[in-house]
Amino acid sequence: MQERKHPSSSRTRLKLEVFDCPRRFLVWSESRPDECHLVDLDENEGRGECSCEDWNFNQGDYYLWQKPYECKHIKTCRLYESQEDI
Ligand SMILES: [Zn+2]
Repeated sequence: MQERKHPSSSRTRLKLEVFDCPRRFLVWSESRPDECHLVDLDENEGRGECSCEDWNFNQGDYYLWQKPYECKHIKTCRLYESQEDI
């Protein structure tokens, strides 16, 4: 039996939990299930911040590309927020 998926949920879908305030989240790692990252969407003037290596490695490119880098954890949180607003 196959699970039917909503089209919007077929993108990045990681396990997440609201942390100590509504725009701070804990997002669990896909590759390492016992590991989670702290995402703060209000950091960096709203560009967001994540504690993962991926984000820390790539976020410097903001100054090159003039757009914020969003790792899969930040994307997951933004997706979660956009669904909450509906
Ligand atoms: Zn991340």
